[in-house]
Amino acid sequence: MKKFKAESVRLLELMVNSIYTNKEIFLRELISNASDAIDKRHFASLTDASLSADYEIKITTDKDNRLLVIEDNGIGMNEQELESNLGTIASSGTFKFKSENKSEEPLIGQFGVGFYSAFMVADEVSVLSRKVGESTAYKWTCSSLEGYEIAEADKDSAGTVITLKLKADDEDCRYSDFLEDWFIESLVRKYSDYIRYPIRAEIEDSVKNEAGEYEVKKVWRTLNSRTPIWKKPKEEIKEAAEEFYRSKFYDFTPPKKIMSFKLEGTVSFHALLFVPSSLPFNYYTNEYKRGVQLYSGGVMIMENCAELLPEYLGFIKGVVDSEDVSLNISREMLQKDRQLKAIATALEKKIVAEFKKWQTEDRQSYDEFFTTFGSGIKYGVYGNFGEKKELLKDLLEFYLDGKLMTLKECAAAVGEQEEIYYACGSDVESIQALPKVKMLNSEGKKVLLLTDKVDEFVIKTLGEYEGKKFKSVSASDFNTEKSEEIKKAGEDNKEIFDAVLTALDGCVEKVVAADLGEGSAALTAEGEVSLEMEKVLSAINRDKAPKAKKVLQINPSGKAFCVIKDLFASDKQAFDSAVLALYYQAAVLEGLSIDKPEKFASAIETLISKMG
Ligand code: ADP
Ligand code: MG
Repeated sequence: MKKFKAESVRLLELMVNSIYTNKEIFLRELISNASDAIDKRHFASLTDASLSADYEIKITTDKDNRLLVIEDNGIGMNEQELESNLGTIASSGTFKFKSENKSEEPLIGQFGVGFYSAFMVADEVSVLSRKVGESTAYKWTCSSLEGYEIAEADKDSAGTVITLKLKADDEDCRYSDFLEDWFIESLVRKYSDYIRYPIRAEIEDSVKNEAGEYEVKKVWRTLNSRTPIWKKPKEEIKEAAEEFYRSKFYDFTPPKKIMSFKLEGTVSFHALLFVPSSLPFNYYTNEYKRGVQLYSGGVMIMENCAELLPEYLGFIKGVVDSEDVSLNISREMLQKDRQLKAIATALEKKIVAEFKKWQTEDRQSYDEFFTTFGSGIKYGVYGNFGEKKELLKDLLEFYLDGKLMTLKECAAAVGEQEEIYYACGSDVESIQALPKVKMLNSEGKKVLLLTDKVDEFVIKTLGEYEGKKFKSVSASDFNTEKSEEIKKAGEDNKEIFDAVLTALDGCVEKVVAADLGEGSAALTAEGEVSLEMEKVLSAINRDKAPKAKKVLQINPSGKAFCVIKDLFASDKQAFDSAVLALYYQAAVLEGLSIDKPEKFASAIETLISKMG
C-alpha cells in the first residue's frame, strides 16, 4: 500500500471533516470532475476526431451493498495520473490543464481537493479509469485515510468509474439517503443542473407495459436541464423563465417582471432576475433570505448571495452566473473580492436602468410595481445618508393631482411655483382634507401628497429637485400672501392666544395665527422633528423617540376663532372645552391619535350640554 504523504494525511482529515459544511456537496464535486474530464476529452477531439464520443455522466446505485457509482466517458487517467492527481492532495490536474491549454470551455476544478469530499460520506472509494488512447486501465482504491493502492484492472472503454461505499447511518447523517433516486435527483437539480453533459440515472418509474398496465421499472432518465435559461436569447425565454421562477423560488404567481442581463468586460456575468408580483409574506422578518443564487461555470455555489444586490433591492430573486468570482477552497463561500463588488455594482446599474425603461415603456405596470415595492426604493434613497439618491431619485413616484407622478413630472406640474409643496398623511383623502392643502388647492397651487411613512425622510434627503426646493405645508415658517395681515391679527388677539396655550396645558409648545383659508386650525411642528417623523420614530421606539415641537395654528379670520373669542369673554369652561376640541380635531386630521381620550370626551360633553 502506498501512503499519502505525511502532511497529506493531516490535511485529508482536516478536509474531510471541516472544509465543507454540507456533506451532500460531494456529489456536486464528483459530477464537476466528470464534467471537466469530458471537457478535456472534447478538447482533445478537436484535433483528433477519433477521440470523440457520446458524452454522458451516469449515476447508479446498489442498495444492498451501499454502493453509489458515478461514471463518465471523459479523458480518463493513467497510472501516473491517478498517482499524481489522487495521491497528492491539493494537486489539481485540471488546474494544470487550464494553464497548459487554451481551452474555450470553462473548467470547474482548480484546488485539487473536491475529490476527497467523497470521504465525507464513504469509507471506501475506488476509481477505475482508462485514459483515452491507452489500452490499460487502472484502479485506485482507498479504504482508510492512511493510504491507497493502484493496480491494473479491466475496463473496456475510456473514462472513469468512481465507486463509493457509503458509511453506515448514524445520528449525524442518514448516508443511505444518497442511494435514493429522489434524493440523487434533487441534488443534481440543485447543484449540477447546468452541467453541459447529460447526467443520467437509472430511476424507478411506473411505466406502461405491452398489456397497457403500469409497472415499476428502472429506466434511464436525464436529470439535469443542461442549458441555463439565462444564456438563451431574451425573446425565447419568457415562458421558460416563468417556469424556472416557479420551480426555483416556489412562487406560483408569475413574476411581475423578468430581467435578463449579460455583461462582458472587466467582469462578465449572466443574470436572470425577477421582481415578484407581491411582497413575500415574510419580507420584513429575519426569516426572509435576501440575495440571488450564484452559479459559477454552471455549478451552483451559493443559494443566497446577499452581497450581489444592494439591500434596497432585497425583494429581487434570481440567478447570477459568473466565471469571474474567486471561490474559496470549499466553493461554499466567496472571497470577498473586487470581482464580486464589481459584479454587484454593474448589476445595480443595470437594474436601475431597466426600472427606468419599465417606467417609460409600461407606466401602468411600473406604477403597480412602485406601489408594492416603492418603500424599498425609497429606503435606497434615504439610507446611507443619501449616498444613492442621485442614482435612484428618478425611480420615485408620489401623488400629485390624483395620480402617481415622477419628480420630473411633479416639477413640471407645479410650473411657476418656485417650491414644491408637500403634505404628509396616511392616505390621499385625509391629506386633501388638511386646511393648508385645501387652501393651497383653492388658490390653484399644487401639493405633493406623501402617503408613505418614509416619504418625508426621502424628501428631506433629496432637499430639492431640479432647483425647486421641497417645502412642507405644515412647516411653521410656511408663509402665504396673507401671512402679514394674519400675523397682525394674531398680535391684536395676543391675550386670547395666550389663553388657548394655557388651556391646552402642555399639549403644544406654541399657539400662533396662520392663514388657513377656510380652515379653522392646524397642527404643525417646529424644528427638526416633524409630526410625520414623530409618528415613524415612535412606532420604532415608543418611549425614546424624539417628540415633535407641536405648534397649533389658528386662523384668526376663521369661524371657530370667532366662537372662541366670544366664549373667552363669556364662559371660561366652554372656552377650555372648545379649545381642546379644536386641538384634537387638528391632531386627528394630521393622523395623530387622541392621546388623552378622557379629556377629549369631557370637552365634547361640556360643549354638547351647553348647546341645550
Ligand atoms: P480539482 O477538480 O479542483 O482539480 P479534485 O480533487 O476534484 O480537484 O480532483 C483532482 C484531480 O483529479 C483533477 O484535477 C483531475 O485531474 C483528476 N480527476 C478527478 N476526477 C476525475 C475524473 N472523473 N476523470 C478524470 N480525472 C479526474
Ligand atoms: Mg474537482
